[in-house]
Amino acid sequence: MFSVIISAPSGAGKTTIIEKLLIQNPIYEFAISTTTRSRRTDEIEGKNYYYVNYDEFMQMVDRGEFLEWAKVHDNYYGTTKKEVDRIKALSKIPIFDVDVQGARSLRNKLQNVISVFIIPPSIKELEKRLRHRSTETDHQITVRLNNALTELKEYVNYDYIVVNDDLQKALDDLNAILKTTILKREYMDTIVKKLLEEVHDYTIR
Ligand code: ADP
Ligand code: 5GP
Repeated sequence: MFSVIISAPSGAGKTTIIEKLLIQNPIYEFAISTTTRSRRTDEIEGKNYYYVNYDEFMQMVDRGEFLEWAKVHDNYYGTTKKEVDRIKALSKIPIFDVDVQGARSLRNKLQNVISVFIIPPSIKELEKRLRHRSTETDHQITVRLNNALTELKEYVNYDYIVVNDDLQKALDDLNAILKTTILKREYMDTIVKKLLEEVHDYTIR
């Protein structure tokens, strides 16, 4: 099967869209990253992230536990190999919520990757969403807005772009992208082969 990478400038609505996608489509499994960022009040350990301190993160780096990791907005984030194995064992399609650096690494390390870049309708709206979310200090919001330009320039490396203006439309767009990918011939192989076997064994009465 394939893996899905989803990136966006902070505040564009990536987490909101992914959460809705996962509720509606049990075939996808969220790849839970490990981070040194503090847990937000509405976040749950082992659901949104695994939270570790800087020393623990660097020990994991030294032990080679990460498939990829990066420093993003002053914190460290990484995808463990263990997390990828967990999803593989479930036979589900992994959704990687990673920044543009993580996306570059995963494209080189995984086969059959499709990548989606979510953008806000405007930078003004991006700032508004970050401020309304009230999860970062003014300084942290400034860091995230400053990084948005560098991140946006990376759009050229993604397969699909989704504009998150109206939330339902953005979710429909993402669903359409994923549904079309699932229906590609190479991923339908098992189903067609099963039918071919049936036809082969079938005796016309
Ligand atoms: P990200 O994960 O990309 O940083 P979030 O999913 O946390 O972004 O969304 C940032 C804020 O914007 C949240 O408060 C969320 O409720 C809000 N939001 C998400 N999508 C929309 C939308 N289409 N219109 C208005 N607000 C949105
Ligand atoms: P946030 O702090 O808003 O949850 O995430 C900040 C940024 O870190 C987002 O761009 C998000 O996609 C990215 N991120 C989350 N997990 C990972 C990860 O495992 N690896 C990388 N490279 N980036 C991640």
